[in-house]
Amino acid sequence: MGEPKISIDELAVFCKKKGFAVISGEIYGGLSGFYDFGWLGSEMKRNIKDSLWNDFVRRRGNIVGIDGSIITHPKVWEASGHVENFSDMIVSCGKCRESFRADQVAADQLGVNPASLSIEDVKVMVEREELKCPHCGSILKTASKFNLMFSTKIGSTAGNGVNSFLRPETAQLIFTDFKGVMDSARMRPPFGIAQLGKAFRNEISPRDFLFRMREFEQFEIEFFTADKDEGNDDEPDMSGFKGMKINLLTEDKQRKKEGEAERVDALSLLKTAKKWHAYWLLEFYSWFIRHGISPANLRIREHRKEELAHYASACFDIEYKFPFGWSEIHGDAERGSFDLDQHSKYSGQKMYYFDAQNNEKIVPRVAAEPSQGIERAMMAFLYDAYKYDKERGNVVMGFHPVIAPVKVGVFPLVNKLDEKASAVFRLVNENFVAVYDRSGSIGRRYARADEIGIPFCITIDFDTLKDESVTIRERDTTKQTRVKISEIAGYLKQRGL
Ligand SMILES: [Zn+2]
Repeated sequence: MGEPKISIDELAVFCKKKGFAVISGEIYGGLSGFYDFGWLGSEMKRNIKDSLWNDFVRRRGNIVGIDGSIITHPKVWEASGHVENFSDMIVSCGKCRESFRADQVAADQLGVNPASLSIEDVKVMVEREELKCPHCGSILKTASKFNLMFSTKIGSTAGNGVNSFLRPETAQLIFTDFKGVMDSARMRPPFGIAQLGKAFRNEISPRDFLFRMREFEQFEIEFFTADKDEGNDDEPDMSGFKGMKINLLTEDKQRKKEGEAERVDALSLLKTAKKWHAYWLLEFYSWFIRHGISPANLRIREHRKEELAHYASACFDIEYKFPFGWSEIHGDAERGSFDLDQHSKYSGQKMYYFDAQNNEKIVPRVAAEPSQGIERAMMAFLYDAYKYDKERGNVVMGFHPVIAPVKVGVFPLVNKLDEKASAVFRLVNENFVAVYDRSGSIGRRYARADEIGIPFCITIDFDTLKDESVTIRERDTTKQTRVKISEIAGYLKQRGL
């Protein structure tokens, strides 16, 4: 447990074989940075998205959602700064003409952490160090900026088409739509607007399976507060985090070159983060733990001052310990009123509301911006769940019942019991995603179910015909329980489905 299990490449092979994810357009050689999700992957992704939307939007009175367009008005990206700043440094080899992401080349050859490098750091490194082309070995000389947005043309390409972009993040439409949503939903700060959907980034070198993709999905919340001293109005309820422990890597520790996180009380995050910011980080941290991520593989890392984007006054990541190192699976920046100010300036529209009580105009500030990559969460759940069980002689994917793509397997002990078993399958399948498996020994069928992480398997035997009961086997313990057919749904719900 907790030991390195398989590499990410091996996980990708496993995921393709079982039907979680495969590179898109595989029959034509594959399109780098794009993935198709199979019969299991599509269910699992949906479970992750539903869980996020239910836990963070529907079950909260102070968050509402939107679903904005993917191709976005070009002015949005001018105002947000993406046209100007949403770039990586690229190095191109003068000899073989291959291009690479400069921070990754620097990281590989100089042993530095790419997450900790700013664009300026990278530029200086390429100029000072003799970095070699990973392809042909020639010395790389200069780095240049490369904008990561996919551009597209709206309307006739021959005539007066307009150049625009596929959105590189889901946050900006929350800002452009802010006033309309606040008024129509009758919200006042502190409140949040959420969006979940596709985003696109023309990554120079997509890699690590689902980690760095060119097309991906994001769930973001912009949480607005009114207080000028950000994050301190209408205090969040922190009582749920009492007694909770987190792994925390502070800026201070990184500055002292101490790379390890410390296991501390969750509430000690308040020493470095403001209240609403800490609240949302802990909410997502516990969402991961609640859905089965091993505590040892999760940590919160504070950004160093030099890593901060121009709009952010503080930023924290939730990181997962992948085989290629601790990497961001969730980000959360405090953005102030930068975005609403920018859109107000570029559009000429007012982005404030009128506070009748104090008789003043207020432009809300973003005290927290939880930003969750769906595929990154998925990859963490996949990697964390993977375990080879020596005793059973097969892989057991230990998914939490909410995350598991298939919830129930239904097996007739022998084919003679097909009719009864089919009836049970239809009943179970009304409430839960289920598979019906009648081929091979029962042991073989349990193994197949373990490999795709089915939490519960139901076997119909000859006694079922007499006592209207079935045997339910739990994946993690292999414990078997006799349950009445009429009580199956209640039994499974009690166990987390
Ligand atoms: Zn080269």
